[in-house]
Amino acid sequence: MADNNNNHHSFDAIIIGSGLAGLSTALTILDAGGRVLILEKEPKLGGNSMKASSGINAATTDEERHAFRQDTLHSAGDATNPALVDTLVQHSQEAVLGWLRERLQVDLSQVAQLGGHSQPRTHRPAGKLPIGAEIMIKLQAAVKEFEGKQEQDNGVLQICTSAKATQLVQDDQGRVVGVAYTITTEEKEQEVVAHAANVVLATGGFAADRSSTSWLAKVRPELLALGATAGEFSTGDGLTLASALNANLVGMQHIQVHPTGFVDPKDPDNPNKFLAAEVLRGVGGILLTPQGKRFCNEIGRRDYVTDKIFSLNAKYAETKTWQGGSDEKVPQVYLLVSEEGAAAIQKHVDFYAWKGFLTKVKGAKEVAEYMGMDAETIGATLQEYQDAAKAGADSFGKSRFLAVPQLDEESANYYVGKVEPVLHYCMGGVQINPRGQVLKDESTIIPGLYACGEVAGGLHGKNRLAGNSLCECVVFGRIVGQGIVKCENAAKI
Ligand SMILES: Cc1cc2nc3c(=O)[nH]c(=O)nc-3n(C[C@H](O)[C@H](O)[C@H](O)COP(=O)(O)OP(=O)(O)OC[C@H]3O[C@@H](n4cnc5c(N)ncnc54)[C@H](O)[C@@H]3O)c2cc1C
Repeated sequence: MADNNNNHHSFDAIIIGSGLAGLSTALTILDAGGRVLILEKEPKLGGNSMKASSGINAATTDEERHAFRQDTLHSAGDATNPALVDTLVQHSQEAVLGWLRERLQVDLSQVAQLGGHSQPRTHRPAGKLPIGAEIMIKLQAAVKEFEGKQEQDNGVLQICTSAKATQLVQDDQGRVVGVAYTITTEEKEQEVVAHAANVVLATGGFAADRSSTSWLAKVRPELLALGATAGEFSTGDGLTLASALNANLVGMQHIQVHPTGFVDPKDPDNPNKFLAAEVLRGVGGILLTPQGKRFCNEIGRRDYVTDKIFSLNAKYAETKTWQGGSDEKVPQVYLLVSEEGAAAIQKHVDFYAWKGFLTKVKGAKEVAEYMGMDAETIGATLQEYQDAAKAGADSFGKSRFLAVPQLDEESANYYVGKVEPVLHYCMGGVQINPRGQVLKDESTIIPGLYACGEVAGGLHGKNRLAGNSLCECVVFGRIVGQGIVKCENAAKI
């Protein structure tokens, strides 16, 4: 096994994973003059962080922080650790509106109030890029500026891509002092060990692994039939590495299901699903059963809409639990957006149409053809919806009607696609304290081992508030980086 004995004996930190949590930690250490090795098992950096589209939360005043705390606790239920919530809320301004904006010039100029939030606090850019790409492109560029620098310079960085961490290395006292990893190239696979004063797990979630030995199979086997929005690399490796050292895992059963992942007509059974973002329903998109009927308030909370879709399955409707039996096919429904609704988010819609997830059709007749039913059924549904919009209320409790699809047999344009509930976020993970140190139990840390981002559990409880994951990655990534810098400086003194 080769030894990555780069520049003397070791790095200040080896960071496993190059999403927002990993790179926030890395840049914090590099800016303070530290030495960092980043291991990324994919050929490219970025992880799921690159895909994020809704925004990132931050609160500025005491009053805003109070409301942010309350909303996060309310959404999390009783399964959260309030100390982690306090840390998130207290540091959100510095991390998001300070560091991201000032150090990286991330555009956070648009602020929205998303579902579950009592105030507008979810920031996103005004330009073309979605929030994930806006942050990650700038963050990667800033981190990569340290590549190739020599030891005498401030900040030394080595990035290894296609390098999968396979084991954490401990010394005699149980301190984590290194990582064993496998580098894969076209020619060969090479086993390597690298040493460091600290190791940071930033490996993301586990929703994409459906193998019989997966974390999903262990904790929520009934969800194995659902697709996931997370990339294929989201296989819970950090949990496996940490639990081999007896790290405690918390809240593993709490997995967020998003009601709408696109079913790709070219590859309908592919479990890797593309998120049909909430905004499609937010601008007035409606959901229809395969029989062409509405069945819910489309702008209700994620868990409500998911429940309504699952309820189209007779067994679920009876028991109200998804059991994942072979007779329980995940229900699929149609998403229909009027031309007026699409115009409000034309860039998104054009992208989805280009990917083949949404199809532009003309007239209610073509909608019916797309859905394989007669035009009268669709006509009756659209008529009923228009009547409800005029009255200002429907039978599902909807009272806000935007861009209502017109009943036009021939000439109105609509966008139609098929969607189904998908796994979206893993709330559970490695237990940490507010400094991001990995815990064996409530009060025992594993020295030298940190975790941040989706791999860490305990912050979001039963349900993550939209925009809190990106915030968590930056807040805890910064805290972990600062903690490592402080220890390293203290050790030098
Ligand atoms: C489609 C989509 C939209 C989203 N939108 C939002 C949003 O708008 N706002 C929000 O707050 N959250 C959003 N989320 C959630 C959020 O994006 C993620 O939870 C967050 O980005 C996770 O960041 P991370 O750094 O923890 O992990 P990731 O960004 O997933 O990065 C983990 C990295 O670790 C690597 N890795 C894993 N195992 C190993 C190993 N053994 N060795 C080496 N490398 C390894 C992976 O390859 C990956 O690159 C969204 C998620 C998805 C999927």
